[in-house]
Amino acid sequence: MANAERKKRLTTAFGRPVGDDQNSETAGPRGPVLIQDVHLLEKLGHFDRERIPERVVHAKGAGAGGYFEVTADVSEYTKAKFLSEVGKRTEVFVRFSTVGGEKGSADSERDPRGFAVKFYTEEGNYDLVGNNTPVFFIRDPLKFPDFIHTQKRSPATNLKDPDMFWDFLSLTPESVHQVTILFSDRGTPATYRHMNGYSSHTYKWYNAKGEQFWVKYHLKTDQGIKNLTRQEAEAMRGKDPDHATRDLHDAIARGDFPSWTLEMQIMKHSEAEDYRFNVFDITKVWPHGDYPPIRVGKLVLNRNPENYFAEVEQAAFAPSSLVPGIAPSPDKMLQARLFSYHDTHIHRLGPNYHLIPVNSPKNAPEMNYQRDGLMRVDSGGGSGPNYWPNSFDGVAPDIEGKDPPFPVDGHADRHPYSQPNDDFVQPGDLYRKVMTEEDREHLVGNIVSHLSQAQERIQLRQTALFFKADADYGSKVARGLGLSVDEIEKLAKMTQEDRVRATK
Ligand code: NDP
Repeated sequence: MANAERKKRLTTAFGRPVGDDQNSETAGPRGPVLIQDVHLLEKLGHFDRERIPERVVHAKGAGAGGYFEVTADVSEYTKAKFLSEVGKRTEVFVRFSTVGGEKGSADSERDPRGFAVKFYTEEGNYDLVGNNTPVFFIRDPLKFPDFIHTQKRSPATNLKDPDMFWDFLSLTPESVHQVTILFSDRGTPATYRHMNGYSSHTYKWYNAKGEQFWVKYHLKTDQGIKNLTRQEAEAMRGKDPDHATRDLHDAIARGDFPSWTLEMQIMKHSEAEDYRFNVFDITKVWPHGDYPPIRVGKLVLNRNPENYFAEVEQAAFAPSSLVPGIAPSPDKMLQARLFSYHDTHIHRLGPNYHLIPVNSPKNAPEMNYQRDGLMRVDSGGGSGPNYWPNSFDGVAPDIEGKDPPFPVDGHADRHPYSQPNDDFVQPGDLYRKVMTEEDREHLVGNIVSHLSQAQERIQLRQTALFFKADADYGSKVARGLGLSVDEIEKLAKMTQEDRVRATK
């Protein structure tokens, strides 16, 4: 039978033609359903298993395909082949998301936005798994599960709980920079097209000579930054909870392809030692004045997925997917993500998730001795050897894939990041030097409307952190909450331990 004809015929999962899809088989017209109606059993059985585990974070997302094009020569910094020459294009798949909400939550929630890019390079897939914010709330991965729990639902009520939310943040002063960005209108981007993406982490680039550089990625929107105000975001939640998903799809469908310019901040290894901030601390940016971003390429999205589940729900990005020329930095959060993303995909999609077309390294096929496992749906290495070393012409390691050595020293211990007082410099700069009067007014209003729902002792502790970043900032939040500015100033001058004791 011709393919076209075959496609039109309804079949079971195993290809048998189905004669009737409206009437279950019963014993007589008024009798019970028969177990021999295997089409019904198969159909229900599959339906019962339609859902795969929801991502614990970044559950709600939208995605699109496109390409990345190199616009500047960066071969002096990295030997990554996909970045090797001006004009070179690499196919990409991008997934945007919110973080804390469930799969059905509203796109306009106040939340960081995920911005994950998969580059299908000739040296394997490279995943840049970033956010729309250049920093993060915490800098040690031991805190991550606790932090996420506080942004989700209360175990008692199954409701979002402002006490949990602010209790944790106020006990974690390093979060104040990200909290300031999150509660600015950048915490509610107008669409996925109108926001930037950042690696947030520092990564390492190395060139063909093995020279190493620390780098940060900035994907700057060519559509311009546009945000929703708190009031607009609230209204959007009711009007169209899927507005950002819809916007991305519709823009691409009408040929209005969104694009971003990739800019890099690049630091010599030798400069990192004495830099005024710890360059691996993800709660800090590298000020543009010190490390001006340089333009490197363009990311364009021009293809809507054909099937959401196949391409977006099953898309699996992992910071551990790196290519020669790009390596991790010692950023502790990044180090933990190298484990955690791959681990969560194995849980969610199975040990062979790299065979799902959206995840497969289509321009550098897998060749190794890993075998079998659930849903190994290809020939699995065929009749070739399944061990290394072997003398049967099996694939062999290539020195090209080896990262250059990186010196480390010191004692194995649970080391904190140094100089906690640095935590208030950058949020203060953001408030004083970068934000407009209107930005500051919206920031304070957004904080007050949320923080006012937490207990007063938590309000006091958190507002003192805003005051430490900037006295005007803290005073305005205090006044908005009806707190005494003098009391906030007193709390701000205490050590964090004393402040916690005073607000027990
Ligand atoms: P610059 O004045 O050179 O850069 C400030 C940057 O802040 C802008 O380029 C823009 O980054 C971003 N920005 C502008 N408005 C807002 C806003 N309302 N909310 C959040 N970010 C905004 O100063 P520095 O590089 O010295 O940084 C000063 C502060 O700016 C930092 O402490 C940090 O809080 C914030 N910032 C810095 C970034 C960096 O990588 N240096 C990146 C983003 C924020 P963009 O062009 O990326 O939109």
